[in-house]
Amino acid sequence: MFERNISGLQVNYYFVCKKKLWYYSNDLSMESGNENVEIGKVVDETSYNRNNNKHIMIDNAINIDFISEHNMLHEVKKSRKIEKASEWQVKYYMYYLKKRGVENLKAKIDYPLLKQSVMVDLTKTDEEELEKILSDIKIIINSDTPPLTENKKYCKSCAYYEFCYI
Ligand code: SF4
Repeated sequence: MFERNISGLQVNYYFVCKKKLWYYSNDLSMESGNENVEIGKVVDETSYNRNNNKHIMIDNAINIDFISEHNMLHEVKKSRKIEKASEWQVKYYMYYLKKRGVENLKAKIDYPLLKQSVMVDLTKTDEEELEKILSDIKIIINSDTPPLTENKKYCKSCAYYEFCYI
């Protein structure tokens, strides 16, 4: 299955919190103005300014931070707190572009505030796993009601905190 209309952010939210994924996908966007989201945007906008190929939007679904020399895709994040979500977001970009005929892409997640980078691979097993994840995302976002509150350690900094707890 190749879902052109699932975004990288939705894949990320699938790992962060399925309720957040549902809220976001059902047009309950609270991200603008949330302090953590704003910090992330500033990190993204002020990092790696030398690179002109920033924010490459493809099919209105995937939004690549930038691609540098030697086909290296970069995703910029402010912290390593939910690294698994970031890794699968990047794996999804690689998977998506592969389905669009782009081969030999390498990828890394950059943490400019930490001065660190982490390489990301896309294996055959990852591709199979992504197909299951995309199916699951479809089921979640098309449900009439959101999943139950998951009580995560980062709930208090989530843009949807008031929806879930107040
Ligand atoms: S507050 Fe917690 S449960 Fe609610 S959407 Fe955010 S992360 Fe998920």
